[in-house]
Amino acid sequence: MVKNLLDRVGTITLMGPGPSCVTDEVYRAMSLPTLGHMDSEFIKIMDGIKEMLQKVMATQNRLTVPISGTGSAGMETCFVNLIEPHDTVLILKNGVFGNRMFDVATRLGAEVDAVDAPWGKPIDPEMVKKQLEKKKYKIVAIVHAETSTGVRNPIQEVAKLVHQTDALYLVDAVTSLGGIPVPTDELGIDALYSGTQKCLSCPPGLSPVSFSEKAVKAITNRKTKVPNWYLDMNMIIQYWNGAKRVYHHTAPINMLYGLYQSLYLILEEGLDAVYARHMKYHNMLAQELEGIGLAMLVAPEFRLPMLNAVIVPEGVDEAKVRNDLRNTYNIEIGAGLGDLAGKIFRIGLMGHTAREENVVKVVSALKELI
Ligand code: PLP
Repeated sequence: MVKNLLDRVGTITLMGPGPSCVTDEVYRAMSLPTLGHMDSEFIKIMDGIKEMLQKVMATQNRLTVPISGTGSAGMETCFVNLIEPHDTVLILKNGVFGNRMFDVATRLGAEVDAVDAPWGKPIDPEMVKKQLEKKKYKIVAIVHAETSTGVRNPIQEVAKLVHQTDALYLVDAVTSLGGIPVPTDELGIDALYSGTQKCLSCPPGLSPVSFSEKAVKAITNRKTKVPNWYLDMNMIIQYWNGAKRVYHHTAPINMLYGLYQSLYLILEEGLDAVYARHMKYHNMLAQELEGIGLAMLVAPEFRLPMLNAVIVPEGVDEAKVRNDLRNTYNIEIGAGLGDLAGKIFRIGLMGHTAREENVVKVVSALKELI
């Protein structure tokens, strides 16, 4: 006999690469009665989500909506709507999620090139400049916050280079949004996607996306149909925008309640205060970890506040440390991926997780275990 779920799931302090801790208010919002997806009150809730997303994404883009699905659905949405077969795409990659972009773009029949940086180091704008001088691209794509390594990529410097060409600028803001500024309009980002389970502090399940007018034009001027029905923005927009809404797929109503409330809480606290809180507890964590003899992977100027990559000391069994944290202290942290498997811990301070009590909790547990 399987157990009743209500007797099974306890509270774990989520300090990994996402999902992050969720506030009681967001849980309460998600348990409100389900409305119909064409209900007039629900349409107003959708409008509220769009308005709040524009604020958090710092954009006036009319096409700013959450996609049903996790961050990877947002990634796929951006590429599938913008790429036509044989289009040229340049991916700047230095971790798992840059690699994923490369895979997604390649599957769509694009001609895909890459500029690589070693894992743990940022993308080098000089290399991007050289590549852009060699070849014309329709899309240049970069991951703002590379969750697999804890590196913040220089999206501002790259924006300047991309805008010297006609290319569309595509940015992954899955981990950065709501934790560090993502100045979409100021940097002229044409396509942006994120996820709910990182600094927005909502459970996983939605992927906010935003497209500039230039990107919308590229989508409407396509010579071929978007090859994916579910993620075709031409159809999704008819449900999310306009006086008369057209059914596309049944919206995940209660997930959208959760996103609404998490955006509401971020804006209530104030974006600057939220960014300052992430930075404050990241600095505290880095200092405390160094105090117990642990070293960070990434150079200070490229560190992400919300994802702290910590080098596993020689002779320490990293899987055992993570298991003990989970089983004895009810704390989840993340393991290294790919080339960094077994070599780093990934400690998340995302959204509601970025609080002093969590820094204290994880550092004192690690002090006992290492
Ligand atoms: N991009 C980045 C930077 C991520 O960190 C993640 C997930 O961790 C994704 C994309 C994919 O998101 P998801 O796992 O929600 O599909």
